[in-house]
Amino acid sequence: MSRISLLELQKKVINGERLTREEAIHLAGVDDLLYLGRLANIVKERKTGSDVYFNVNRHINLTNVCVSRCKFCAFSKDKGDPDAYAMTVDDVLTDAVSAVPLGITEVHIVSGLHPDLPFEYYLEVISKLKQTMPEIHIQAFTAVEIWYFAGISGLSVEQVLKRLKDAGLGSMPGGGAEILNDQIRQTVCPKKGSSSDWLETTRIAHKIGIRSNATMLYGHVETMEDRIDHLIALRDLQDETGGFQSFIPLPFHPKNTGLDGLQKPTAFESLKVLALSRLILDNFDHIKAFWIMMGIKVSQLSLLFGVDDLDGTVVEEKITHAAGAETGESISRAELIDLIFEADRIPVERDTLYNVIQVHKAGKEDPSHEA
Ligand code: SF4
Repeated sequence: MSRISLLELQKKVINGERLTREEAIHLAGVDDLLYLGRLANIVKERKTGSDVYFNVNRHINLTNVCVSRCKFCAFSKDKGDPDAYAMTVDDVLTDAVSAVPLGITEVHIVSGLHPDLPFEYYLEVISKLKQTMPEIHIQAFTAVEIWYFAGISGLSVEQVLKRLKDAGLGSMPGGGAEILNDQIRQTVCPKKGSSSDWLETTRIAHKIGIRSNATMLYGHVETMEDRIDHLIALRDLQDETGGFQSFIPLPFHPKNTGLDGLQKPTAFESLKVLALSRLILDNFDHIKAFWIMMGIKVSQLSLLFGVDDLDGTVVEEKITHAAGAETGESISRAELIDLIFEADRIPVERDTLYNVIQVHKAGKEDPSHEA
């Protein structure tokens, strides 16, 4: 391996040059977290200045019944388990409509892979939501769910995506990527689609105009090199399609999972992952700290480590709380704004596609920044 100088890497970051895999691995070995944070902050401020984005949304999980039963998942159940559930279309509409007075601009839907619900159920959920609240953006279904729908419907992935888009699907949330390494997937989620299934489904979505985010579940059986390979696979796909909006690293929560003996990633580790993500993903506009999984304090601190987005108000969250998350399930718009101000950043409320709804200045709302 060639000798890599930290000073050279610093120059590359300042000049906006791309880091190689080898350089990224070298940076990952740096223990000076504040140094990495300062470097990541250079990239963050070049892309988004002092702005920090958030949105007002409502999460809905249609069912916790799942045929995949990934080892890292505390949310999923088998059909017939006492606490297994599947929402009716009317239940979904009731939950979504109840969040409208909160000013939501997005409904965010991810769920288990139910053995019996037909693809038509998901189409109906999307089309009824769109008919009932046409102005609300629907961000729904991971690439893993889309790939599963193709399997249960006999349609191609492209046909599934086109039908959902016609029904009102606006974008995809980006989950299910876990770690894009098939050996690791065999260990922690063997029934889930492969790395190439996830990448190919996402590629097709982007090519037909459905934008998405990308996630990475870290802190289970993967190594730092696996994380960097994951980031580079996403960077390569972004070069090809330009369809990713944000990257969201998700720290693994072991409680109640099949990997219960593991420790949750520390704040140090999470801040390092966020900073490295900002440095490696030079073609992603946004790095998001999902406060539900990251915790409020680490999320606030992350705004100085390359993060420019805190996700949304959420309202109700089942997946991470099943795995012992200690955060609340909801945060108000006012609390998010305060968190961002306290970090000396400018809170910018956005819609799902990063159109600016409102820039908040020192407690005063500035409606002139509407998109
Ligand atoms: S992570 Fe998703 S696919 Fe895996 S068991 Fe949980 S709900 Fe099912």
